[in-house]
Amino acid sequence: MSKLNPVTKHMEFSGISGVLAITLGLPMLLITFHQLINDDYQTNLFQNFDLQKILTFKRPLLDICLDGQIWTYYLLWFSGLAFLDLVLPGYYKQGVELRDGSKLTYLINGISIVSFLLVLLASRFVITAGALPELQFLYSHILEFTVISILFSFAFSTFIYFFSFITLRTPNNSTTDEKNDKILATGGNTGNVIYDWFIGRELNPRFGPLDVKLFCELRPGMLLWLLLNLSCMHHQWLTSGHVTDSMILLNFVQSIYIFDGVLNEDGVLTMMDVTTDGFGYMLCFGDLSLVPFSYSVQARYLALNEVTLGLPLTLFILILGLVGFYIFKASNNEKSAFRQGQKPHLKYIKTKRGTNLLVDSWWGISQHPNYFGDWIYSLTWCLSTGFSNPINYYYALYFGSLLLHRQQRDELKCREKYGKDWEEYERQVPYKIIPYLY
Ligand code: NDP
Repeated sequence: MSKLNPVTKHMEFSGISGVLAITLGLPMLLITFHQLINDDYQTNLFQNFDLQKILTFKRPLLDICLDGQIWTYYLLWFSGLAFLDLVLPGYYKQGVELRDGSKLTYLINGISIVSFLLVLLASRFVITAGALPELQFLYSHILEFTVISILFSFAFSTFIYFFSFITLRTPNNSTTDEKNDKILATGGNTGNVIYDWFIGRELNPRFGPLDVKLFCELRPGMLLWLLLNLSCMHHQWLTSGHVTDSMILLNFVQSIYIFDGVLNEDGVLTMMDVTTDGFGYMLCFGDLSLVPFSYSVQARYLALNEVTLGLPLTLFILILGLVGFYIFKASNNEKSAFRQGQKPHLKYIKTKRGTNLLVDSWWGISQHPNYFGDWIYSLTWCLSTGFSNPINYYYALYFGSLLLHRQQRDELKCREKYGKDWEEYERQVPYKIIPYLY
């Protein structure tokens, strides 16, 4: 048994059948979103439902798969951001300790990248007198970019899977004879090709200084989502001469979320995605395809439907968002500060593993108060579209189940890691996400 990379037989998502269903099902869902809401046809599932129209594509899918222009733009976007990620200024931060005792160093430069992108967009707005042909192109080729990003995620995660077998040129820190082995994700080392490809075999794939996981998590997908939202707002402005309060509100609440992720990227270094999960199809597709092309559904709906919320509803949604965002940020910041030794007055359980578990303040209310705040915030995205189309509410449902599944995965991990200490923690903090409910 390898000490550095223990083999596991445990499979999540009901094993291979679940993995295959997700691999095929989620891309189909993204394409279906486009078919349900686009310039030629819209349905809210209960009204105007026309299966024939849903199955009719504006272009044959095979034709899109081979579209050299869209491939070129997508690859330019991806590699351009990778280049900026390497060259724009920032500061360095170390990640959590790995199994060989080492820590990876990350360049944190989200502020530079976002500033660069926004200045570029603003300049293009001025130069093109508001026409922004690049945003118009993006808006009118959403199906094409959806398909190409799915194919890219598939190809890139396959490449990363094979890349995980290449031995290290610079030895790792381990004292065993595994010095040239890459560190694998424990959950992605089952030996089953399909499962390991899906869940992610290598923990931290890197090309030189470029950390693939952090880059994909925060750059190409998140920023494409921002551009898609802006392209929808721009489309509404071009076609109707004004922008509705719903569109402004949605862009505002989603941009705050995007900027929070990209600008506070050092917070991501302690998240499960970075510390525990390997980089496989699951993360790659989630970051590059699911985030931009499913999180932008509400903006795409509003680009085609004038929704006026009025001041009272707008204020209600804003206040709800503020509450959710506050819970999400305050609890995440508190745990992070505590783990850095900055909140010694708070009550905690000393564990045999050495790391302490907070049982006070936010973390005395439930085991994941941050998930609760995050979910409330997600609801504001749906509410911003009004109440006429249930498709816009898919996100709150999807995100709720994602967080529930995440909580269960985290509980399994912590039970194994902390043993009896976790039992004591569960006794002191019995609710998992929502106090008195779950
Ligand atoms: P948490 O921030 O809840 O982190 C869980 C980890 O924190 C545990 O594994 C454990 O790690 C440590 N921990 C748990 N309880 C305590 C405690 N009481 N005191 C100290 N440490 C504790 O979960 P995530 O990393 O999953 O999520 C982080 C944020 O990201 C959340 O706000 C979530 O909502 C958001 N998120 C958003 C997504 C999106 O798509 N928008 C997707 C996923 C997450 P250790 O081993 O170090 O003890």
